[in-house]
Amino acid sequence: MSKIPQEVIDGILDRTDIVEVISGCIQLKKAGRNYKANCPFHNEKTPSFVVSPEKQIYHCFGCDAGGNAINFLMKYENIGFPEAVEVLAGRAGVQLPKYTKAAGQGPSLAARLYEVNKMAAAFYQNLLRGENGRNALGYLEKRGIDTDTMSEFRIGYALNRWEELRKYCERKKIPAALLRKAGLTIPSEKGKGDYDRFRNRITFPIFNERGHIVAFGGRVMDDSLPKYINSPETEVYSKSNVLYGLNFSRRGIRERGCAVLVEGYMDVIIPFQHGVTNVVAASGTALTERQVSMLKKYTDTAVMVFDADQAGEAASLRGLDTLIAGGMKVRIAALPEGEDPDSFVRKNGREKFEDIVRAARGLFDYKLDLLVEKLGVRDVGGIADEMLPTIRKVANAVVQSDHLKRLAERLGINETSLRQEMGKVRPDYSRRVAAPSEAVLNTRAYRSSEIHLLGLAISDKRMFDRIRGELGLDRFRDMNVKKVIDIVSALFGNGEKRINPGKLLSRFENDARARAAVVRAIAKADISRDPEKVLTDCVSCVLKENRDEDLKDLTLRLKEAKESGNEAEMMELMKKISEINKEKVA
Ligand SMILES: [Zn+2]
Repeated sequence: MSKIPQEVIDGILDRTDIVEVISGCIQLKKAGRNYKANCPFHNEKTPSFVVSPEKQIYHCFGCDAGGNAINFLMKYENIGFPEAVEVLAGRAGVQLPKYTKAAGQGPSLAARLYEVNKMAAAFYQNLLRGENGRNALGYLEKRGIDTDTMSEFRIGYALNRWEELRKYCERKKIPAALLRKAGLTIPSEKGKGDYDRFRNRITFPIFNERGHIVAFGGRVMDDSLPKYINSPETEVYSKSNVLYGLNFSRRGIRERGCAVLVEGYMDVIIPFQHGVTNVVAASGTALTERQVSMLKKYTDTAVMVFDADQAGEAASLRGLDTLIAGGMKVRIAALPEGEDPDSFVRKNGREKFEDIVRAARGLFDYKLDLLVEKLGVRDVGGIADEMLPTIRKVANAVVQSDHLKRLAERLGINETSLRQEMGKVRPDYSRRVAAPSEAVLNTRAYRSSEIHLLGLAISDKRMFDRIRGELGLDRFRDMNVKKVIDIVSALFGNGEKRINPGKLLSRFENDARARAAVVRAIAKADISRDPEKVLTDCVSCVLKENRDEDLKDLTLRLKEAKESGNEAEMMELMKKISEINKEKVA
């Protein structure tokens, strides 16, 4: 669906090294001709993720993820095809004409909003360092933020004036409408032009996962209210799909295997400055499904850090059900009363904070203890009312069943009746039916012999020619294999001598199954020691499978014809069946 011509994509892939791209995201180790790593897409202890510099593809033998550099970026960064191509074009120094832009004129609105936000962040950063920013700078220093952190998080200051940013942008010829769309200015009611949204506030740029600035939070430096104002929702910003700090912490989250969830900007910034590099903040304790799925790309474990007061409220734990429904393991860490991560780390340092995170307890136990303490163990109904909705959301049936059993034990009641009770709990969230995961797509039985042959055909033109001669391309019946073999045939037909699997994959941008077929086929061809024998075996195997399938189909039709008394049809079918049986013997 992209409008980027194939030649352009091929050109970018020619100038891209998949090893370089992937090693920028995860650590790769050389292993023979390939590189290995622990798969970033599933949890594992021994590496089954392989990157092939020759073929310019990656493949995980554990979860069956695989593809070229574009597919990797799309999956790893959670971005679309055009964006991934754009990233690679940038790396390769290829000027990408504006194919992807809807109206064909200039960069997309999103790209322009990123740009104007970036510019505004730099503008505020400058003001913070200037004469008029002294108070603000003093305030930040008092809060314990050092200058490196200020630049890394691009913290700035908006002057106590109405049109500072607007006028600056006028001089820079930035359209007023764009500033408004970015939420940086507000149209005045009297129609006298726009005024700045952020005034006399410390500015915290809010980044998306990939580090583009999508919005700002502005904080006052005294006790006036509101303490914070935020950008409105825009084309590129929605409160529900941003986790503050994720662009900085995603690496740390992956490496440490857990995300520490906190509440405010400072609760991310201060711990991060002290070396706690796996913190993110959601606005409010109730995470959205979108936020949970963003986190899940990096880890399946979340530690919520509460202060003792909040954690003492069962109500605040209710907000965590989204995490559980999303399949995350949730643990609760409680800070001493009155402390937040910001103040705690400043007073006690990183190690004490990490001790508390390590000591976090599972949500189930935590919540249950809390309820027992609050309601008394005899309030079976009250406790069950709070616990059952949480347990119901546990996606893993084994874990769910274990929770139920333990709850029944603790309350001294019958597990079966508890289970019945749970059945009555109304699910208060509507779960979107997710697209089948790549792993599911891949485990759908492909015809293994066809996959083997496809692998041979891709890897070697001679093999392709033999397959065409000895089997015939129209004998392939697997839809996905068929699609790929047609392209392979066209490429060889165009005079290609060798097929670059990475490029081949880029032909199936919107077709995960065809891509999976390519990756599997190549993996198969890779490990086959004796391609000649594989070819002969698989050709006869495909022929046999086709015959068996046809026989099954014809027999079924014969039965139908008998039932409806259609003699002519019966004769025809029996003739076909005997032909196939003759072939079989031959
Ligand atoms: Zn994997």
